[in-house]
Amino acid sequence: CGIVGYLGHRSALDVVLQGLGRLEYRGYDSAGIALLDGDGSLAVQRSAGALSNLEQRVAEDGREHFVGTGGMGHTRWATHGAPTDRNAHPHRDSTGKVAVVHNGIIENFAELRAELENDGIELSSDTDSEVVAHLVGRAYAAGPAAGDLTAALGIVAARLSGAFTLVVTHADQHDKIVAARRSSPLVVGVGEGETFVASDVAAFIEHTRNAVELGQDQLVTITRDGYLVTDFAGTEVETRPFSVDWDL
Ligand code: GLU
Repeated sequence: CGIVGYLGHRSALDVVLQGLGRLEYRGYDSAGIALLDGDGSLAVQRSAGALSNLEQRVAEDGREHFVGTGGMGHTRWATHGAPTDRNAHPHRDSTGKVAVVHNGIIENFAELRAELENDGIELSSDTDSEVVAHLVGRAYAAGPAAGDLTAALGIVAARLSGAFTLVVTHADQHDKIVAARRSSPLVVGVGEGETFVASDVAAFIEHTRNAVELGQDQLVTITRDGYLVTDFAGTEVETRPFSVDWDL
């Protein structure tokens, strides 16, 4: 339902939780975060219920487990799978290195799920979204997109039918976050040494008013210094920058 991703110089935990709070008005049933701590692992926490439940879990684990200046968060409005802890996003692949948050519905998830299960991959949720984490993990591990998170997401996004805003992180890629969209909103926020991706500008307007809207079937790679928008095949496309002039 609500998505925020961040790469910058501040505590990603604070920025992501604050951004999710700004998206709360849309309604949700669960929430979760995945942070890139820079040492090759992801710090993930999820919870059914209010954002305050997630914050409580983070506090119980200890904030020292959620360091780093990159990461993403999600508030879920369940469409496939009950609103439980295990169905809350982010979802990870079997290596635990790839994390995905998703808004929308992957219409062909059953077919993709069967393909993964035939290859011996065990899924750990009842969502339509989890398949994306495994597919990106496989595309990143071997084949034409090996080691290239952007290309891996492009290959996978082209195979999906339905509506999606997807944001993907990889534990080994702590200077990059990739996101893709079809029939579901995705905006980039461009700050000073910090870049955001979100489902709604409300997630980042207290940090920057410079935004870029992604078009249909487009993909964006953000770094701390900027962004690159392409189609799913990797061809650069023209962007649509705009300035957010709402009052806070
Ligand atoms: N279809 C996904 C799920 O049920 C995402 C729902 C959403 O947009 O929050 O987990």
